[in-house]
Amino acid sequence: MLSEKMLELGTNRSVIRDLFEYGKKRKAEIGEDKVFDFSLGNPSVPAPACVREAALDLLQNEDEILLHGYTSAQGDAGLRKAIADYVNGQHGTNLTADNFYITVGAAASLSISLKALAEEGDEFITFAPFFPEYRVFVENTGSKLVVVKSDPKSFQIDPDALKEAITEHTKGVILNSPNNPSGVVITEDGIQNLCRILEEKQEEYGHPIFLISDEPYRELVYDDVKVPYLMNEYDNTIVCYSYSKSLSLPGERIGYIAVSDRAVEWKKIYAAVCGAGRALGYVCAPSLFQQVVKRCQGQTSDVSVYKKNRDLLCRALTEYGYHCVKPDGAFYLFVEALEEDANAFSMKAREYELLLVPADSFGTPGYVRISYCVSTEQIEKSLPAFRELARAYGK
Ligand code: PLP
Repeated sequence: MLSEKMLELGTNRSVIRDLFEYGKKRKAEIGEDKVFDFSLGNPSVPAPACVREAALDLLQNEDEILLHGYTSAQGDAGLRKAIADYVNGQHGTNLTADNFYITVGAAASLSISLKALAEEGDEFITFAPFFPEYRVFVENTGSKLVVVKSDPKSFQIDPDALKEAITEHTKGVILNSPNNPSGVVITEDGIQNLCRILEEKQEEYGHPIFLISDEPYRELVYDDVKVPYLMNEYDNTIVCYSYSKSLSLPGERIGYIAVSDRAVEWKKIYAAVCGAGRALGYVCAPSLFQQVVKRCQGQTSDVSVYKKNRDLLCRALTEYGYHCVKPDGAFYLFVEALEEDANAFSMKAREYELLLVPADSFGTPGYVRISYCVSTEQIEKSLPAFRELARAYGK
């Protein structure tokens, strides 16, 4: 009667959502400020002023019919050109509006790109830890997600593990740097190694292997860390971008797909992207916010707050005896659980009103993820609870 797979996806909520719902209930019981909710990756800093200014100006001064009407399926041509100009200016590329497809966020960018590429029997590789929805998006195309473990100490790419995982069925590799959940940024050397391996393997198997760069956190990096632009490193690149985190607009649902003009038969790939958008019903992203984003190219929210939170949390947790990889980007801290079973550890943390996401579904058991996109005050108030939790484990 129903698709069992969809029923299962809709019935079993993600661990993150579960914890978030538990948090809401708990806050109603004991008070908002008594629960230290680190579950969701919802930006905690407001959108930059240009967002409000653009939205108000558009609503007051633009033709309402046009403003709320359909745009082209692939997005407004003016916005696509504005993005192309901005990306070219930043990264020295030669893209035009015709390389861009506007989406409802990175989730749609990924779903569409995968759908555009996938043929029967294909495999897509990603690196653990990874954003759990990758499995959902990849499997929804009928393809298989192949998970490659990262270096266990640094969470950088393990080149040998990658080489071993690539087969004749590999259609693409999904890379997410800065990474959710580890916050790790893949080094420039790491990126170059990855690209050389993919080039060798393309040669060996005689077909393209696409690099799908999922980069909603591109602008969220600290201490002058560089995030290489992958189109400049590898021809068969598709960038999946989103304004959810950079402009703090996750609920407005705007992102894009950029197909490199150096990818093999890129115009066909772009056409397949348009086809996949159509097949999935992801046409014409929200019109008003397409126009807002057009006016905010190059702007970001004030991400310095995240750096402050990271420094505070990393320093304190290390002092209390926790082990974490210091994140260079995004707004997540990946911490070793103080017992083998991260789920049990997360349950124990609840006793101290700390909501920490167990990382099994990110492909890395034994860790929890802390989303530090919260107020600095929440972090400060939560520190005694983290200390007590560590003490409960004899730290
Ligand atoms: N990819 C990663 C790594 C993410 O962390 C997220 C959201 O948190 C997404 C994709 C989806 O982003 P969006 O809200 O733009 O759909």
